[in-house]
Parts: sequence; C-alpha cells; structure tokens
Amino acid sequence: MIIVSITGPGMKDALEQIAVSSHFADMFELRLDMIQEPPLGMMMAATGKPIIATCRPHREGGEFRGTESERVDILHAAAELCAAYVDIEVNADAGIIRRLHGDGRRLILSYHHNGNGKLDIARMYRRMRSTHAHVLKLAYTAEDCADIQYAFEFLQLAKQDKQKAVAIAMGEFGEPTRILYKKFGGWATYASAGVGLSAAPGQIPAAELRGLYRSERISGRTKVFGVIGNPLKQSKGIYLHNPLFQKAQKDAVYCRFQVRDLNSFMERVAPVLNGFSVTIPHKQTIIKYLDRIDPTAKAIGAVNTVIRKAGTLYGTNTDAPGALDAIEKVVKVKGKSMLIAGAGGAARAIAFEARQRGATVCLTNRTESTGRKLATEFNVDFVSKTELLRAARTGVRYDIIVNATSVGMTPHVNASPLLKSILKKAIVFDAVYNPPMTKLLRDAKNAGAQIVQGTEMYFNQAALQFELYAGVKPGISTMRKILS
Ligand code: NAP
Repeated sequence: MIIVSITGPGMKDALEQIAVSSHFADMFELRLDMIQEPPLGMMMAATGKPIIATCRPHREGGEFRGTESERVDILHAAAELCAAYVDIEVNADAGIIRRLHGDGRRLILSYHHNGNGKLDIARMYRRMRSTHAHVLKLAYTAEDCADIQYAFEFLQLAKQDKQKAVAIAMGEFGEPTRILYKKFGGWATYASAGVGLSAAPGQIPAAELRGLYRSERISGRTKVFGVIGNPLKQSKGIYLHNPLFQKAQKDAVYCRFQVRDLNSFMERVAPVLNGFSVTIPHKQTIIKYLDRIDPTAKAIGAVNTVIRKAGTLYGTNTDAPGALDAIEKVVKVKGKSMLIAGAGGAARAIAFEARQRGATVCLTNRTESTGRKLATEFNVDFVSKTELLRAARTGVRYDIIVNATSVGMTPHVNASPLLKSILKKAIVFDAVYNPPMTKLLRDAKNAGAQIVQGTEMYFNQAALQFELYAGVKPGISTMRKILS
C-alpha cells in the first residue's frame, strides 16, 4: 500500500497534491502540522481514499508548535470527520494515546528515532506492540546503507506476530526501505505526491514507486538487485534495469544501495541481494568479499558486477567487453595503436581488454606515477604530458584514442583531457557518458575524427549485467528507447 503524504503548505497546494497523486495512492496522510489552517472537511472530501491524520510536533521532527491539547483537538476533529487512522507518537503522553485509542479508533503508533542513543529494535518493538495499536511505525535516519537492516528487522518481528507495521530509514542511504517494504512483510510505505514535495528526507514520488519500482508487486519471493556505490545520484541503473525486468516479466527489482562502509554492507545487507552492480569507490575493494571472480576481472583488478550463484558470490567485469565492443562496432582493434588517458578502474578495464584483442596500447595520466605503475603492470608504454605535446607537434598519431578519465563529466562539460591536434584522423572514444556528447568528442568531430560515445559502452556493459541478472540479453535499441 502506498500512502502519499500531503504537505501543503497552502490549502490549494494540498488539494493539488491529492489530485496529482490520486492515481498512485492507496491512502493519503494529511500532515496537519505542515498544511496551514486546513479546512479538514474540504480536504477529506477531495478524495474517496482513506485518510491518515498526522500532526507531528516539532520535538518529533514535525512542524506543529502549539500545545499538546491543541494537537489532540486537531487529531480528534480529524477522527470525527472519519479519518481512517490517527497517527500518534509512542512518546506522547500515555493518557493522550489512550484517549485517541478509545472509541475503537484505528491508531498508527509511531516512533521517530532522533539519532541519539542506540536503536534497540527488539525493545522498541515490544514497547510499541504492548499498546495494541493497529499499526506500528518506525522511522529513523540511515547514516549508511547497512542501517536499513533495522527496518527489515522491525518488519520481520511484526510479521511473526501478524502485526501491521511500517519501517522507514530516512535519507538517501535508506531509500531501499521505501521500495522493498513488502519483501519483509511491511504494511505500507510513505511516498511524496511529487518531486520536491517530500514530508521526510528520502521520500520517493508515488508515481515512481508504482511506475518504476512496481513496489506494490514486490513479495518475499521477489529477487532484489541494485547498484552499490557512493555517491549514486548520477547512476542511471534504476531507470534501465527496472523497465527491463518488467519487459522480461521477471519478479525482480533494482534499487540504489548507497554504501559508505562496504564491510557492514556485505555483512548486513548483501545477504538479501541476488546480485548487484558495483561502482565508484567499491570496484576494487569488493573483491575480497567475493567467493570467486572471473579471470578478466582478476587481471583488471576490478569488479563491476556481482551475482549470487548457489549461495556464493561471483564477480565479473562487464566494463571491459562493454568498452571494446563499442569501439569494435567502428573498427577492429587488432594491430591498431591505442592511446588511453587515465589510470583508474575504467582505464584498467579498457587497457586490459584492448591488449587481449590485439591492440598496441600506451597510457597517459595526470598523475604520472600512477600511470607508469599501471603501464608496468600491463607491460605497455607510458607517454608523459610533455611527450604527448611533442607527439602532437611532430604529427605522431594513434589509430584509436580513449578517454578513461572523468574529465568532461557533468558539471565540467567544457573540459577535455586531450589536445585537439592529436585527435585528427583517429577514432576517439570517450568513456564519459554524462553528457553523451563531451567536449573531447566535439573537438574530435571538428578535427574530422570518428567518434564513439560513452553511452555505447554503458549500454553494452549494462546489457551484459542484465543477462547475468535475468538470464536474457536485452536489445541495445530497447535500452536506448528506455533511457531516452
Ligand atoms: P577512477 O578510478 O576514479 O579514475 C579516474 C581517472 O581520471 C584517473 O586516471 C584520474 O587521474 C583521472 N582524472 C580525474 N580528474 C582528472 C583531472 N581533472 N584531470 C586529469 N585527469 C583526471 O574512475 P573510473 O572508474 O576509471 O571512471 C573514469 C570515467 O569513466 C568516469 O567518467 C566514469 O563515469 C567513466 N565510466 C564510464 C563507463 C561507461 O559505461 N561508459 C563505465 C565505467 C566508467 P589521477 O590518477 O591523476 O587521479
């Protein structure tokens, strides 16, 4: 069940929020602490859907600053006007809870952990359960992805007792709890009416929960995939893999798991995942947690895809074939000279695979020591910035030029890692895919070079990942259509 929080602040705003999200909401929560002077009856008449009345005091993270008795009067009035549920905090006065609970009223008892002190889930659950409220609701802020485990623990305790419960980890680290609630037996999730209308940090618009994640279809059997990394705002994976799962009719979902501490994530969250994509900064550090990795990933020293196979974790690297397949759509690399700028994860993958396919690779990198180290490891040449300038002046040319640095990426869209003069007559590939047309590619085009965009690599590596997750390979044109 998706509960959409209506926050106003004006009455007109609130009515608009109800109207735009009506199609996606199963129930509405009226945040009476956030909506200014709400004529309650009018709002409740604006929808035929059940209403939860909430008037959160400031001390509990809400915006109501009046007295307790004023607050209880507001909640009472809402109940009289047929609110299906009234939400009251477990820390409110026991008499108030009893009073609101009287007359057979349906109560949502909520606990908002403010981050002070340890969150003892079992103890809090028992305390809340002893009130016999209809629904128990836990909310806290996740400081890292591993904290989402508290929500799942709370829901599992409630499930054992057949107790209706909601558990939400707020903030971007807690995002999966808003999507996966049904996987763990949760009664409902709270969503916003739209972008920028969140009642709490990290709330996802209801349209996205239903349309993108299909969260109402998730069950204990749904396979969970996702991307792990930090930060993850730039990641497009959720917009690609979820529609692909839907198209392939797979009972699976793909979420963002923003991970700071990889160790706690692997211990506390990874066990519920069937597979995941790995991005910066965990591509190298993930290796020690895996049971097996394939020889390519081992040689590259980086894993971007993990799948669970018969209870064990297996890692591979789809960046390497993804990049080379994109370049080889234009030209076979065997026997060609290739200059790669960069010495990070992408450069490692591309350099390794290009050598495997028969290219003569040389590297250049801003930090010479890192570049030289990688060149020695892969037994290829290193070209310093000075040597590269000389090469450009003397007309030395490379058949293929690759940018595997992050230069040119949004927001620094007017930066290029390489001089225009070296690009002439080459085939230029930029691993950067945001924006799809980088300054380097614009320069290359102007210099008469053929270009290959980073989005091609992105689609190739994502297609290989999806095949590992779902057992079917998606068409690149389908993927292109989805992301456009
Ligand atoms: P990484 O491991 O962090 O490596 C970053 C590289 O960029 C290093 O060589 C670094 O040089 C260089 N660099 C960073 N800022 C620079 C600057 N201002 N001037 C010159 N060099 C600079 O990152 P990565 O994983 O390799 O990713 C690199 C790029 O590839 C990113 O833009 C990423 O989005 C893209 N990528 C694309 C795909 C795709 O599917 N298209 C897949 C993977 C990665 P130093 O050694 O001097 O720090």
